[in-house]
Amino acid sequence: MFAMNIATSYFDHNASTPLLVPVQEAVVDAFARLWCNPHAQYRSAQAASVAVEAARRSVAKLLNTPPATVFFTSGATEANSWVLQRAAEGQGTLGSAVEHPSVAEHLSARIPVDNQGVVDLAALEKLLSKSTWGLVSVMGANNETGVLQPIADVARICHYHNVRFHCDASQMPGRVTLEQLAEADFVTLSGHKMGGPRGVGVLVARQELTPLHRGGPQERGLRAGTVNVPGVIGIGVAADHAVPMDPTARDSVETLCRELGAKILGEGVPRLPNTVSALFDVPGDLLVMALDLEGIAASTGSACSSGSHRPSAVVEAMGLTGAPLRLSLGRDSDPVRLLHALPQVVERARAAL
Ligand code: PMP
Repeated sequence: MFAMNIATSYFDHNASTPLLVPVQEAVVDAFARLWCNPHAQYRSAQAASVAVEAARRSVAKLLNTPPATVFFTSGATEANSWVLQRAAEGQGTLGSAVEHPSVAEHLSARIPVDNQGVVDLAALEKLLSKSTWGLVSVMGANNETGVLQPIADVARICHYHNVRFHCDASQMPGRVTLEQLAEADFVTLSGHKMGGPRGVGVLVARQELTPLHRGGPQERGLRAGTVNVPGVIGIGVAADHAVPMDPTARDSVETLCRELGAKILGEGVPRLPNTVSALFDVPGDLLVMALDLEGIAASTGSACSSGSHRPSAVVEAMGLTGAPLRLSLGRDSDPVRLLHALPQVVERARAAL
């Protein structure tokens, strides 16, 4: 059981979302009932593989793509590693300067972003005209700032130059609509960012791809390893429930941060309706600790880099310094306690400096 009241105390949905209730029910049922190896031939195993194929259709429907293009992985990290290491066919990989580390680690060169965190399309054009690239990777929504990238434009530019395009869309389902992804050759999703379980993800491959690791014939020979049946069923149910979010609660949090003197990252451009990244005159990690004492969970940016005390590469790429406070809401978030606590927390942090 979650020890605290999630709706009023948890503001870190970009790090991980709680399981949606129907997902929880389906996953528990799968652990109890569908534990056979889904690749075996007897009837009880077939029930598991039928459920896996139903989940594949759910994900396919969400992304408006044929089920045969949907491959299940252990998460977005594996999906990103797979496509970045295999789709470029020996040529260089180009990605935005604000990609998640699971993409950034594999890039040969970076496309700059402007001071709002939006990828510079003219710079992309120039890079693609100057030399040959195997793959371009630009995320749909940034996990730290929530800034949405002009994905349809990026896809169009890449295809004009005959370069394949991958989009890490992990932060989009359940928050915004996904039609912008229609032209992407490869799309990454993560279960635990969309109300599904951790340890499961998706790579949509609309173009040919060779496997990352070899072994059994699972996933049509492209992703060896016994399929994680409860996880896959969970992400399928999460896909069935992924509808865009209302920004009202986020707006009230953002307005308060502004009133308290913070600069909102990416404030002039389209952003996820759940994310506020606020740069105060006190370090974000101090505010995170102070909010934690009030029973409120927040973050300074991506959970993967928190605790490392390195400045955020995303903030740096935007030409800024400092550690923002990231507040990321869920569908059921009620910011009343946060709105009450934040002014005192900021005031106390200022006094302590
Ligand atoms: N991409 C983005 C944009 C993310 O936010 C995350 C999680 N922080 C990942 C990839 C990695 O996801 P997973 O935990 O499923 O490997």
